[in-house]
Amino acid sequence: MLASSELIALVKSYDPEANADMLKKAYIFAMEAHGLQKRASGAPYFYHPAEVARILAELHMDVPTVVTGLLHDVLEDTNVSFEELEEIFGSEIAFLVEGVTKLSKINYTSAHARHAENFQKFILAVARDIRVLLVKLVDRLHNMRTLNYIEDPEKRRRISLETLNVYAPLAERIGLSIVRKEIEDIAFYNLHPNEYSIIAMKLEKIRNEDSDFIENTIAELNNILTKEGINATVSGREKEVYSIWKKMQKNNISVEQVNDITAFRIIVNSVKECYAVLGLIHTHFQIMPGRFKDYISIPKLNNYRSLHTTVLGPKKQPIEVQIRTKEMHKVAEEGVAAHWGYKSGNVLTSDKDIRAKKFVQDLVTVAQTSPNPEEAMNYSRLDMYDDEVFCFTPSGEVVTLPRGATVIDFAYWIHTDVGNTCIGVRVNGKMVPLKTVLRNGDQVDIISSPYQHPEVAWERFVVTGKAKSCIRKYIRSKEKAEFVALGLQLTQHVFAHSNVIFQEDAIDLRKFSCDKINQFYYNVGKGVISLGKIRELLPKVTGDKSSEFAVCITDFTPGIAVHFADCCHPILDDHVIGILVPEKGLVIHLASCAHICCDGQEHIQVKWNHDDYISRALVCHLRIVMLNKVGSFADVTEAISQSSGHITNLRVESRSDDFFELQVDVKVRSDEHLKDMLATLRSSQSVKNVKQL
Ligand code: MN
Repeated sequence: MLASSELIALVKSYDPEANADMLKKAYIFAMEAHGLQKRASGAPYFYHPAEVARILAELHMDVPTVVTGLLHDVLEDTNVSFEELEEIFGSEIAFLVEGVTKLSKINYTSAHARHAENFQKFILAVARDIRVLLVKLVDRLHNMRTLNYIEDPEKRRRISLETLNVYAPLAERIGLSIVRKEIEDIAFYNLHPNEYSIIAMKLEKIRNEDSDFIENTIAELNNILTKEGINATVSGREKEVYSIWKKMQKNNISVEQVNDITAFRIIVNSVKECYAVLGLIHTHFQIMPGRFKDYISIPKLNNYRSLHTTVLGPKKQPIEVQIRTKEMHKVAEEGVAAHWGYKSGNVLTSDKDIRAKKFVQDLVTVAQTSPNPEEAMNYSRLDMYDDEVFCFTPSGEVVTLPRGATVIDFAYWIHTDVGNTCIGVRVNGKMVPLKTVLRNGDQVDIISSPYQHPEVAWERFVVTGKAKSCIRKYIRSKEKAEFVALGLQLTQHVFAHSNVIFQEDAIDLRKFSCDKINQFYYNVGKGVISLGKIRELLPKVTGDKSSEFAVCITDFTPGIAVHFADCCHPILDDHVIGILVPEKGLVIHLASCAHICCDGQEHIQVKWNHDDYISRALVCHLRIVMLNKVGSFADVTEAISQSSGHITNLRVESRSDDFFELQVDVKVRSDEHLKDMLATLRSSQSVKNVKQL
């Protein structure tokens, strides 16, 4: 196992001022935290984080990143808490470790490319700091190197698929191609063992036929370069099995038909030399048309720069030649890591650094670098997706929504019907109010009920066009029916009030300029036809006696034809009256509301119907025994509203010196919601006992 002294020496080799104490402290801390835990291989668990730290050091990462490598599994797999890490190692490292831990909790489950792309975005958003992503990628690299110890073939498959679809593209995206190539090959080997061995065997065969091919070609290339006085490093290698396979798939060819199974690399000192070498290669060997690429003039998106050409080599077989400078080579292998300033005081000056800056800008917001460690952290922040938020469903599907989206937006994203019938939401396992704004990484579980329907109030807090238009559409579709129904009840109310038996046929529609009875009711509901006029023209169908008639508030959707007044906020079972407001509908006030006393408006009798209400949300009756002390009431009501319960009634049943006994009626959405609420109440220090009646 890597010793702490070896790790420190390795880091000191590129950062002489590295904090050795910090590295040593993290090394011992992680080793003790993992204790006797074992890996699938049977090796001590700590072997894994130590290797991750070693690879990070080999990539010349800064000390916090290497320390994060050592600690990256302690939050997930040991008893160590975030607070403990923060206290011992500071907030930067605690933040980085927590970031890696968050990424470990998500599993990529879908095989769809669309989901893979979303998943990549999601990881970038959750990672927030590029160093989190680098540690995660190196963690994955080491896990892939030890994948053969995992016995369950299905698990190996899942990890390989995730590696190929999610982590390899992410590694490529930040230019970490040495990691990308290695994890791709191991994943490919596990997913397609037959194809892998066929290609590997054929490569072996080709190699045996001309065992000195690579060596001889390198010698010849060196020869040409030396004659021209160019100082260069030439290397040659076989391409990776996976990249050969991809080429075979893409062009539908056999392994023998794959050109340039071998690639040669010429590394020189300047851009000028790159083009000079290109000229030499093209004069000495026959060029294969259409294969020349100049990634120096036009770098790849991940800032890869190099010249590529394919020529017929010394033995007339195609070889690929890549020509680049040392700096380009470092970027090609390590990508963003190559530019990682391990000293926070780095100032971007040279041409190379400006390009690096532009590149990092694509992935990272570049704040002014300064010796201040907090600002240095900003430099590495990943917030390219700041206008989006990434959440996922209980089955792990990633949902991308605009920032500021609420759980209702999420419900409508799933399906219009899910949105329309959304009655409650659990985020990360906890019930939350429907207007809750989503954050990156939230797992969202929508609870729906066939009795639920969109509420007018939702329109105010949703942000997606789909949610907005669905809610509006629902309201429009309800509007006419609601005003007609209200008009009918108001007409019945006028009849009853005048002690006349209600008979629809008796209404003379022509006197109200209406063709159809529903048109009449609609106009009554909207307040266009005044109740006074109906009363005036009332057909005289008097009977023995007429019963009282009150408009039933709970027959209506709040916010369409019937509204609750903003001045007094009536709730279920309050003593209320209605006032008809032209064009708006019936506004419900508390009977005692000061706003309605003396302006001559007609007070319309209204009532609540419990049965209707209960069909939409359950009202449950709780008996709560709480301590008789200051603040107890506040504690209880806060506990209820925290779990988004709505108190519809509250009575003090008895009181003693020590205790209050309350009966509280609370509207809940489901049994689970009730359970959550009871748990919250029971955990309150002011509550002695809670019982459902
Ligand atoms: Mn790990």
